Amino acid sequence: MNYQCCYCKEEFPVTEAVDGYKEGYKIGFLCPKCGKNIQDTLMNEEWIFSSHSSKLFFAIFMGYFFLAWVFLEFSEPNTWVHYGVALGGVVPFLVYGHIKYPKDMYSPTIGTKPVK
Ligand SMILES: [Zn+2]
Repeated sequence: MNYQCCYCKEEFPVTEAVDGYKEGYKIGFLCPKCGKNIQDTLMNEEWIFSSHSSKLFFAIFMGYFFLAWVFLEFSEPNTWVHYGVALGGVVPFLVYGHIKYPKDMYSPTIGTKPVK
């Protein structure tokens, strides 16, 4: 998981977020790149993708998940074949994401906002 600083737009791992509590920054953390006080966007986590095609891919992936869920909802009685088909469709997405967009898949970036 990474953060993208809302000031300098640099991305950094969550573990590198600088704790500024001792310096008087009670809320959020400090950007390790520019030192500004920022916090994560708790309520509506803004996911930042490394490219437009990557964003599109994950949107389609989520869309598939939704369709698979609808398919299982309305295809009763569900047998292992139904689940197999629904889950089997996920595999190509996982393989494609693993090859094409490993960063967004395993280490997604979320946005930050300034501390007021
Ligand atoms: Zn920064």
